[in-house]
Amino acid sequence: MFKTIEAQLLKDTTPPALRAEFWQYDFERLRTYSLLVYCASVAIWVMFDLILSFQGGQGFTYKSVLIISAMLLHVLALVFIRKAQHFQVLNIVFAAIMALSIRLVMTGVLPNLHPAWLVIGAATILFSSSVMPLRRWSFFTTLGVTWAILNPYYEFDHLFDLRGSMTLCYISFVSGLVIYSYITTRRAKLQNFQMSRLLLQLAYLDTLTEIPNRRSFMTKAQGQIKKAVDARDHYLAMVDIDNFKKVNDQFGHDVGDIVLKRVAANIKASMPEFEFARLGGEEFAIYLWGLTQAEAERRVAALCLEVRSDPAQYPVTISIGLTHIEADDTLTCALIKADAALYDSKHTGKDKYTLHPGSAPVDDRHGRRGTGTQA
Ligand code: GH3
Ligand code: MG
Ligand code: MG
Repeated sequence: MFKTIEAQLLKDTTPPALRAEFWQYDFERLRTYSLLVYCASVAIWVMFDLILSFQGGQGFTYKSVLIISAMLLHVLALVFIRKAQHFQVLNIVFAAIMALSIRLVMTGVLPNLHPAWLVIGAATILFSSSVMPLRRWSFFTTLGVTWAILNPYYEFDHLFDLRGSMTLCYISFVSGLVIYSYITTRRAKLQNFQMSRLLLQLAYLDTLTEIPNRRSFMTKAQGQIKKAVDARDHYLAMVDIDNFKKVNDQFGHDVGDIVLKRVAANIKASMPEFEFARLGGEEFAIYLWGLTQAEAERRVAALCLEVRSDPAQYPVTISIGLTHIEADDTLTCALIKADAALYDSKHTGKDKYTLHPGSAPVDDRHGRRGTGTQA
């Protein structure tokens, strides 16, 4: 099954919006890693600079101070950057500063060792960039800028003598390797991201109505109900289509499916800010918060009205059971109360909502039944 879904995924091209979402996600995941690479790069450069300044007798000049300041500024910028697209530019500039700083410390090394050190420096920058959350244009610009600054051929008199040929061979090998590893890692990460999203969708979305399913509702409502301990303005509504079996019997299962989709769309349209789901069959649930009792009642009554007055070919009505979530209610307990209120709606005429008796205001609890309003 995994292979089948993967093959389907590979056939489709990734929409630009999904790519943008992936880049942002990848950047957020690898921000700490990138920061670590930046800090390590600064530390190792400072170490080399100090060795060459004092042991190598080069002297610690204002240029070193300038470069260290520029590097630290970039590290600081990365601490505050939150958008993937800003990182793309930042990394090109940081790579350029690193490359220039490698050139600076090179002046203190024996000239015949220059090419080797320049290639080592460039390879280090490129290898660390190949695993960073970089877009293609940013990675290839980094590659170009790095080799432009650290090109060891500036140092050669004879480009294709033994040393020149060996260097060219190694540069080609390193460049090929980092390009290959960048492209394959990038592709694998994008595929993983798409696959996870798709599997999550399959696990948490109801295939028929394309609204969240029971698993999604239980997870999200469980999270919300924990907040209800402090906030006493949470409500749970159970929704059931009236006489749905008749729709199936009279017009067929396909029409039943169309009706289910329509009612799901009605719920989605009238409760966009709340958690809602198809629990199974022709039953739905809605978790509402931040409302007074009167507002919660008004919202479910409006939903009854919307379904009833939908100018559709196969009209239906719904019944709703509404309950207030008490501080010590579990989700199961709230579902039982909402179901009991729904049962009342069904047995007192349908096409209405009923408020669970325990949900009435404190001074009005004794003997008061749910509102049972014909919306
Ligand atoms: P009430 O007003 O008391 O709720 O009666 P009802 O007919 O709506 O309820 P009942 O539980 O008797 O029937 C529910 C029907 O929903 C039975 C089942 O075949 C149908 N059903 C469940 N899932 C689906 C589905 O995915 N598609 C279709 N078309 N029908 C479904
Ligand atoms: Mg039912
Ligand atoms: Mg029903």
